[in-house]
Amino acid sequence: MAQRYDIAIVGAGMAGASLAAALGGRARVLLLEAEVRPGYHATGRSAAFWAESYGGPGVQPLTTASGSWLQGHGFLAPRGALTIARAGQEAAVEAFAARFAALGVRVEILDRAAIAARVPGLRPGWTMAVFEPDCRDIDVAALHQHYLAAARHAEAELWCSARLVGATATADGWRLRLGNGPEVACGLLVNAAGAWADAVAALAGARPIGIRPLRRTMVQIRVAPAAPAELPLVLDLSERFYFKPEAGRLWLSPHDETPSPACDAAPEEIDVATAIARLEEAVDWTVERVERRWAGLRSFAPDRLPVYGFDPVCPRFFWFAGQGGFGIQTAPAAADLAARLLLGEGAGAVDPAPYAPARFC
Ligand SMILES: Cc1cc2nc3c(=O)[nH]c(=O)nc-3n(C[C@H](O)[C@H](O)[C@H](O)COP(=O)(O)OP(=O)(O)OC[C@H]3O[C@@H](n4cnc5c(N)ncnc54)[C@H](O)[C@@H]3O)c2cc1C
Repeated sequence: MAQRYDIAIVGAGMAGASLAAALGGRARVLLLEAEVRPGYHATGRSAAFWAESYGGPGVQPLTTASGSWLQGHGFLAPRGALTIARAGQEAAVEAFAARFAALGVRVEILDRAAIAARVPGLRPGWTMAVFEPDCRDIDVAALHQHYLAAARHAEAELWCSARLVGATATADGWRLRLGNGPEVACGLLVNAAGAWADAVAALAGARPIGIRPLRRTMVQIRVAPAAPAELPLVLDLSERFYFKPEAGRLWLSPHDETPSPACDAAPEEIDVATAIARLEEAVDWTVERVERRWAGLRSFAPDRLPVYGFDPVCPRFFWFAGQGGFGIQTAPAAADLAARLLLGEGAGAVDPAPYAPARFC
């Protein structure tokens, strides 16, 4: 007879791992991961920052609610974020600052002199910025390992090289077929499959929501003069680049969002070149060498908010997907929200309503 679990979670990236940990032994949990090791896809490829404005006002409650837990557990380090703008963008700067100040995010508008003091070599033309002092770097690998260890401690089982290939609804749950052989049974099926979320829904007979994987490129470069350690995360208000220092190097992205099938994403040369060209529009530093390049898939629902909750039509099928570019910085609050819904507990720090899958009906 197939082994039976209360909850099977498909995907052991940040989403699946954090949820398995949040369930905390209150259910018999199986975590299924297609790859030989968890964290190989989006989770292992992030830019590793926590910024309350990133992802927009609809995501901010999850980011803010995650902050104190991440800080208290030692996963954050000071960084600061500077969203820079050109002459002519004054109204957009004011609106950006006002939008997040109204939500309780600490923001400060800086003039050219104050920006140049924080970003040496800033080219002329960048005249204003919104500074977020509370932005932090996140130790993503340590956070993911923490969740996996907590899940293990709570007696959740992690099966790697265990791709879900079939899911059949039964009277009291699901019968799952795995690519590596065994069948298992579970009561609730959680879709935490990142870029594969729609494909996993289709496997289970649930209607796909239209979660689209978009490729994002990162490069690690050596610049002269060397990137100062205290440089903030610098983002372009027009969303054409961001960069931050990392151990004497610079991590840089052209802020690309290229539609992609769900796959093992790889960077394209044109995106690497675009990233460097855009950096050179912002600062007068010399790019000496591209040391590393990588790409990952950020997966978005049509309204770019995450999708957390039971499917309104397909019984016992739970969405934990669409974490876009904010799935690390929101992980603690999102996992708490999802665990409460799965266990039928009352709402926690964040209202689940805006994230309910029923909004796509
Ligand atoms: C370049 C880049 C920069 C980013 N920067 C940041 C940042 O600074 N801050 C931030 O908060 N977020 C950032 N993100 C976003 C963040 O990385 C993601 O939101 C987060 O990692 C999503 O986690 P996940 O577990 O949903 O997805 P994944 O990590 O992709 O995990 C999904 C897992 O599901 C598995 N899976 C799929 N199908 C099956 C199946 N059928 N059976 C079993 N397993 C399956 C996959 O193998 C995969 O391991 C960034 C992302 C990228 C790409």
